[in-house]
Amino acid sequence: MVIGAGVGGLVAALRLAHRGHQVTVLDSAAQPGGKIHTQRVGEVLIDSGPTVFTMRWVFDEILRAVGTRLENHLRLRPLSVLARHFWDDGSQLDLFADAERSEAAIADWAGGQEAQRFRAFCARTRAVYDTLEGPFMRSPRPGLLGLMARTGPSGLAVLSQLGPMRTLWQQMGREFGDPRLRQLFARYATYCGSSPWQAPATLMLVAQVEMDGVWSVEGGMAALAEMLAQLARAQGATLRLGCTAQRIDVQQGRVRGVELATGEFLPADQVLFNGEAAALRGGLLGPAARAPVPTQAPPRALSAMTWALHAPLAGVALDRHNVFFCPDYACEFEDIFHHQRLPRLPTVYVCAQDRPGQVPAGAPERVLALVNAPATGDRPDWREEELDACQDTTFRFLNRLGLQLPADSPGMRRSSPLDFHRRFPASGGALYGQATHGWTGIFKRPGAQTPVRGLYLAGGSVHPGPGVPMAALSGQLAAEAMLANPVSTRRSRPVATFGGMSTP
Ligand SMILES: Cc1cc2nc3c(=O)[nH]c(=O)nc-3n(C[C@H](O)[C@H](O)[C@H](O)COP(=O)(O)OP(=O)(O)OC[C@H]3O[C@@H](n4cnc5c(N)ncnc54)[C@H](O)[C@@H]3O)c2cc1C
Repeated sequence: MVIGAGVGGLVAALRLAHRGHQVTVLDSAAQPGGKIHTQRVGEVLIDSGPTVFTMRWVFDEILRAVGTRLENHLRLRPLSVLARHFWDDGSQLDLFADAERSEAAIADWAGGQEAQRFRAFCARTRAVYDTLEGPFMRSPRPGLLGLMARTGPSGLAVLSQLGPMRTLWQQMGREFGDPRLRQLFARYATYCGSSPWQAPATLMLVAQVEMDGVWSVEGGMAALAEMLAQLARAQGATLRLGCTAQRIDVQQGRVRGVELATGEFLPADQVLFNGEAAALRGGLLGPAARAPVPTQAPPRALSAMTWALHAPLAGVALDRHNVFFCPDYACEFEDIFHHQRLPRLPTVYVCAQDRPGQVPAGAPERVLALVNAPATGDRPDWREEELDACQDTTFRFLNRLGLQLPADSPGMRRSSPLDFHRRFPASGGALYGQATHGWTGIFKRPGAQTPVRGLYLAGGSVHPGPGVPMAALSGQLAAEAMLANPVSTRRSRPVATFGGMSTP
């Protein structure tokens, strides 16, 4: 039984069903995908959750393991421009998939010395990424000692160069002289919902993840979730959508089943919970299911304010992924994490979902604009005026930087931490589980295996962390842990193969 059809739950369901297990996936929502979701604006659907697709290899491996290939099911296009960045001094920089092109662009823009620094930075991020991919991302929740043992002396040398206590912001100050580059690369902390001022320097590996490639997905990110759901169904899994689990039944320390909000009881020997770990801590799935997560609540990751609109764009030329940096970056994170309020001047991410490509001048385009926000969606005293003020500042700021985005666009959909909290219970609207703050932050997420026999965890609030590919990896790790503890629900053999490929 899998509670939650987020990417972690779907990946685990696919893997388990392929290995012949009887799998039912429950989700409160009407569509699979969880945070991967679209909103309808007029006639079009706009991706309103994740938009940056990275680490394609994760999905290549997942589909290979169930006997098929990603390209048989999904059309992906590598982007040559990873992201376009704008500052309020009027400057603009593209980062490219081709590092040499980025280096040349930086040389033209900030001088040869910064370009050299960028080259050295690329070598260091590569080394950090290579050190942590196997021993951390692919491993079931390593502790500090386990990680040290797995990385070996050369890996330890790479990590110790960073200085274990150094923050990402401090590290980026050592890497770059130009404050704009420091800001650009420190922003990668937000991909894990964290502040550059509190995230450890090791999070520079997120920059490597993006430099290794960003793809656009035909049909949007929702097509990825739909693909996983369809493949799981083809392997015999059942998806019950619009179905909320309200209690995980545990007797004598082991899982017996799941009770739905309707009162229906579904017996199960193994249950994978793909919702927020905080929901277990808060007792939302019953008192017995509290045990797997530490009682002390970690700091929540970032939430967001988003605007989905279908409107003509004017002013500066956009690529697909665009970032408009606010001039006082420290103030933005102080507002969010220290004062727990919407930033008075935010950095704005704008995803122009019909680009790159030909968009006729003046024609409406699908756009998602996003600013970071505190995960306080469960605060009882939110006022609509706070959200309105944030919207006003955001659209005026974009305008000042040259992008005319109509704030009065018909049908525009706004989402706030309150909306994300409603959709993802116990999250406060946090989009990435817990913040990765402090040098031990990466070790604080629970792993797939829990002290309750038969209860497993997967998702962005679980090791190895948030983001679509990482949550997918957590689903894979959970499925492996469940397969290592066989139970009676196994069917006799796998039920389907894809496109004539053999099953392992
Ligand atoms: C606006 C936004 C932008 C983002 N941008 C990016 C990006 O560009 N790139 C990237 O890689 N990541 C991004 N992320 C993060 C990424 O989407 C998530 O980390 C990832 O999708 C989380 O997957 P998950 O497996 O944790 O499941 P989730 O997506 O969290 O889904 C969990 C599911 O469990 C269900 N559920 C919970 N409790 C119950 C219950 N009791 N009964 C039934 N169902 C239940 C929920 O309804 C939900 O569908 C973004 C997220 C958001 C929202």
